[in-house]
Amino acid sequence: MKGAPVVKKKKSFGRLTGTDIRKAMKNRYCHASVKGYMSIEVVTLKSDTLLHVIQRTMFEKAVGRLPVFKGTRLAGIVTRTDVLKSVHRDIFRKHGTLRKKQMRFNISSKMKRILPKEILKMLHVIGLDANRRRYRAFVVGGFVRDMLLGKKNFDIDIVVEGDAIRFGKGIADLFRGSLVAYPKFGTSTVVMDWPKGVRRPEGAGARFKIDFATARKESYEKPAALPTVLFSSLKDDLQRRDFTINAMAASLNKESFGQLIDFFGGEKDLEKGVIRVLHDVSFIDDPTRIFRAVRFEQRFGFHIDRYTEGHIKNAIREGMFSRTQHHRIRDELILMLKEEEPIKPILRMKELHEMRFIHRKILVRKSTEILFAKIKGAFRWYRRSAFKKRHIDLWLIYLLGLLERLSLAETKAVCEKFAFRRGDRMRIISSRKNCRKALKALSRKLLRPSEVYNILEPLSFEETLFIRAKAKKKAALLRITDFFTAHNKTKIKISGKDIMRLGVKPGPLYRKLLAKVLHKKLDGGLKTKKDELEYVKKLIH
Ligand code: ATP
Ligand code: MG
Repeated sequence: MKGAPVVKKKKSFGRLTGTDIRKAMKNRYCHASVKGYMSIEVVTLKSDTLLHVIQRTMFEKAVGRLPVFKGTRLAGIVTRTDVLKSVHRDIFRKHGTLRKKQMRFNISSKMKRILPKEILKMLHVIGLDANRRRYRAFVVGGFVRDMLLGKKNFDIDIVVEGDAIRFGKGIADLFRGSLVAYPKFGTSTVVMDWPKGVRRPEGAGARFKIDFATARKESYEKPAALPTVLFSSLKDDLQRRDFTINAMAASLNKESFGQLIDFFGGEKDLEKGVIRVLHDVSFIDDPTRIFRAVRFEQRFGFHIDRYTEGHIKNAIREGMFSRTQHHRIRDELILMLKEEEPIKPILRMKELHEMRFIHRKILVRKSTEILFAKIKGAFRWYRRSAFKKRHIDLWLIYLLGLLERLSLAETKAVCEKFAFRRGDRMRIISSRKNCRKALKALSRKLLRPSEVYNILEPLSFEETLFIRAKAKKKAALLRITDFFTAHNKTKIKISGKDIMRLGVKPGPLYRKLLAKVLHKKLDGGLKTKKDELEYVKKLIH
């Protein structure tokens, strides 16, 4: 049982939650008596308290169970599920119809407005299939949050009260997709082509995905269980999530399509612009939520509520970063740098804890802000003007900016510690070795185009754009512009075959000759294929 009231001489004097017990266990208070670690702030209700007051109290105090007193005697307990049952009576009824007052809780019209019709149709089909199997299906998390905010989100997470693998298989067949199942977790992912007519959002994968998870086992093992049990299973799933605004669900079943399920006051928090955890030790359970809190706060221009911020500071004081797996911190840092305005969460992190958890030498200063703005400028310029368009990892360029004060050995150590992936590590380390040198070389007075090409060609585009962001001299800027717009476009007309015809034995010399021809051409010395052949002849004789 959760949230047990602690009574002394028939009067309530404390509340003991699962969280308190976990906290006590973590701190090894096993021998302490209950009053040492229970929550002292007790919120109680009178037996005649009105429903909306109870609801508000639960949201505001973030308690899910409230003892009810009749006079001075404990008469019972009201739970969130009790409240929810009264508010959303319809969804508990099998064929309930929505009453006007409850329309506010339905997000289907928002979904209709925001989503491409192909995706909306898919969600309806999933709901119908759930009905056919007598499952309840919900779309959950970030998707629901973004619908309420009026923002597009094609990241679809579905929780079913039923077998998510079997369900996923059926959906994969319906949509002609393929299924990736994770039996260990009872989850599955349906992978398919992006629906026709849907523009793939920037940064989204090459294929469209829908994730399916099984809500808690209770409903799974007892398919005929009462709705209350089914509901508490969805609630358990939502309760494990990070913030109230990410812990909402919307029904997909036919009779209740779009109905919002909001146990923790997420909708209110969205309206108020508040990031709030669901329980006190959320950040101790998972410190990566600190990054997430900051990310969402800065993305939406919200604020982390006072208690939640207190818990963040506590977790940091208790050294939770050093106890977190480094690769998880790396992932969170990358996500932060992938935000539209990454400087905002970085500044906020600095306010909370500097950026020391990555490296003590990382300073976030005014110059960092300016550099981030220049990086963004360089990236936008690239997208507008460059000839060769490749995918650019913008986050990596920002990371180069954060790490710029580190020595080569320190940079390598950071890459190692946080286990950056091979391709990322190579670019990060190469930048430490080459960028400064390259920038200096590009700023020289006289430089032939072939020399510019030779400096920049071995570097990744991310490094080159970083150099562009750092460049102060006009000459260097112009040379990078030439590299992306002209040099990269230049192609020579001869190939290895032509060299062979000239009687040169195949070998490494071919590449060298072709490079020389390209350099000569970049410097304006060769026009036609004949010119190129003549030049090769001159080189080999
Ligand atoms: P984004 O728009 O950045 O993708 P999101 O809320 O969709 O934000 P995801 O990382 O895609 O975030 O996760 C999906 C959902 O999973 C979240 O909305 C949240 O409910 C839950 N979640 C993700 N990470 C955590 C975590 N560390 N702790 C608890 N719940 C989490
Ligand atoms: Mg998401």
